Amino acid sequence: MRARCASIAYLEPLMKSARYASPRLVACHECDALYQLRPLRSGEHSDCERCGSRLAGRQKNGVQRASAFLLGGVMLFFVANFFPFLSVKAAGQENTIQLWTAVSTLAEGGGLGVAVAIAFFLLLAPLIFVLGNLYILLPLLVGRSAPGSARIARFVTAIEEWAMVEVFFVGVLVSLLKLSALAKLEFGAGFWALLIFVPCIAAARSTLDRHELWARLAAASRTSRPPAEVPHSNLPSAAARRLACCHTCGSVAPTSGHHDPCPRCRAPLHLRKPDSITRTFALTFASLLLYFPANLLPIMAIGGIQGNKVNTILGGVITFWHHGSYLVAGIIFTASVLIPVAKLIALFWLCYTTRAQRTLPPTQADALTATKVYRLTELVGRWSMVDVFVVAVLVAAVQLGGLMQIRPGGAALAFAGVVVLTMLAALSYDPRLVWDRTTAPENSST
Ligand SMILES: [Zn+2]
Ligand SMILES: [Zn+2]
Repeated sequence: MRARCASIAYLEPLMKSARYASPRLVACHECDALYQLRPLRSGEHSDCERCGSRLAGRQKNGVQRASAFLLGGVMLFFVANFFPFLSVKAAGQENTIQLWTAVSTLAEGGGLGVAVAIAFFLLLAPLIFVLGNLYILLPLLVGRSAPGSARIARFVTAIEEWAMVEVFFVGVLVSLLKLSALAKLEFGAGFWALLIFVPCIAAARSTLDRHELWARLAAASRTSRPPAEVPHSNLPSAAARRLACCHTCGSVAPTSGHHDPCPRCRAPLHLRKPDSITRTFALTFASLLLYFPANLLPIMAIGGIQGNKVNTILGGVITFWHHGSYLVAGIIFTASVLIPVAKLIALFWLCYTTRAQRTLPPTQADALTATKVYRLTELVGRWSMVDVFVVAVLVAAVQLGGLMQIRPGGAALAFAGVVVLTMLAALSYDPRLVWDRTTAPENSST
């Protein structure tokens, strides 16, 4: 596809040009390299020459296609939530669940904290993402801007990370592998709607480029500002020129370093995330503390005619393995043990290596390694939530009277806390700090 073509030819390193219009400046949000970006044609994208991060992309009819995916998504979302999702039948007992009622079943079963978390990740965040984007995009189709669009776009951008429908669906598939051995299953309209909703939302996310969205919002509301004049420097980073890259809309604007608002979306600007390493370390350490109860306490309790038993995360993995469910055991072990441990180690290493570089300037290769570790940490972190979703589905589905009942254990909430805290830690980390020393005058003068 043409969209896969490298578009490096459309980038010109800033140092080669004399003056730049502010709306055409782009700073890499991972290494802070500054570029002048020519308007992209449909299907093209631009990547950072230094760290490979995506700078901008433009899909053909991006706003129209994203609107279509979201309109389809909103209908599928309501079907997925309010129509029967799954029926479980065993020994004359039957339990039919809907996603909406599954959350209340979880709360009534003693898992109020987990129920609240799941209601947010599975219901509220995706709903805000879909409806918020539709509110912004539909008026843009006719060149208009809805009231409060900028504020809503900021909110939607912040909440996007927490919509975990695709992770939940993997949790559903893992639960089905377990449930199919215990009972007869029937899938309702809600299940098939969720199956289509997941790729629909993924397509909407990948179709919409935030640079294009904010440029069109500014044009529609006529809030475009004249380009700012930028002091010259031989340094390639935006911060070296006192330019900040807005985390929300991606625009580049001069800043005094005192939380000036972004001229395009009004989000506070800063050259670097405030207290990045301290916050990342504190959140990672809190996550490490929660990791112990998450592994030592039972994650679910199973009661029924065969007696009561409790399972820890590792105990569940071992049970699945002994019963020959190698795939389920592998998925849960990877999501619940390997990824969280790897993520904790990676976050501590990033904190250490960024601090250490205050005395030991890194090479570009060192900085690139740290950026790749950070990127991977951010990418895989949310997938650890799979096990919490598995517990939620099992608790909601296996309510078969005296035959069998499953209740959530204390580890489920602790584990959800581990995932949330590591995600917050990754969000607090600023990967540009590693690159700062590589772009210092003594290093970049050659
Ligand atoms: Zn970069
Ligand atoms: Zn902004």
